[in-house]
Amino acid sequence: MVFSFTQISNYLRCPRSYRLRYLDGWQEKDTRAGMVFGRCFEQALFALFCKEDPEARLFEAWRAYKEASFVYKNGESWDRLLHQGIHILQRFVQDNRVRVRRPKQNLQVKVVRSLPNGHQFIAYLDAIGTLDGTPCILDWKTTTSRYPDGPHDVLSLDFQLISYSWARGIADVAIVAFVRKQRSEIQYLKASISDEQRQEFGRLVESVVSQIEAGHFSAHSGIRFPQNSCLGCAHLGLCLNDQQLIETNLVRKAGASDLDWLDELID
Ligand code: SF4
Repeated sequence: MVFSFTQISNYLRCPRSYRLRYLDGWQEKDTRAGMVFGRCFEQALFALFCKEDPEARLFEAWRAYKEASFVYKNGESWDRLLHQGIHILQRFVQDNRVRVRRPKQNLQVKVVRSLPNGHQFIAYLDAIGTLDGTPCILDWKTTTSRYPDGPHDVLSLDFQLISYSWARGIADVAIVAFVRKQRSEIQYLKASISDEQRQEFGRLVESVVSQIEAGHFSAHSGIRFPQNSCLGCAHLGLCLNDQQLIETNLVRKAGASDLDWLDELID
């Protein structure tokens, strides 16, 4: 079997949710405008590093969703997202802090690591390049809330960055956060992942994979006010046997686990 960061973190959050998503094929519908827009924005970044017109690419990619029945939050609209995206792209070009050489090889980099029993771990890194001249793994995030400024080094605990560092064996990592809000901004956040963190992550992956092989999928509901992870879980309708919630949020697809690596592209 092939595993990804998304699968591992989904299992750790709730093994039952993992089974519903990856074994039974219940996937969340693409109704969140922000998430789909994020994918279009990444296409624009790809164009930018390939010396093509990023604004035109963003428009082309996002135009495909103009009539889609998305859920727009906080007064957002198709037009507003497009304008925000163009503005942030212009800021990114002006900042000129990120370099990606040989973009066709160093954007959306596929990394494969072998796991015991013939399994594999696959990661798709947004980019390998430099930030302010320092070589590092780069992760793009389009978001509506800015990352906290502290405490110092908190980003080195980011589970996804640790997974990328482990997969590729590079210590320096960075998030470039494209923050869409009233006054859009770009955060350039660096971290360094230690050997010990990478080894620990490797052991965690092996432990999760053996739990999955053993068929352990008990619910881990997280029901406890105020951090109730079930409320943000796409599978809530299935756990509550609520047909309306199921129809609103989910679509059942065959062979869902085969397509899991695509999740990496939208994180
Ligand atoms: S609703 Fe809660 S218990 Fe059910 S799958 Fe999601 S997180 Fe797990």
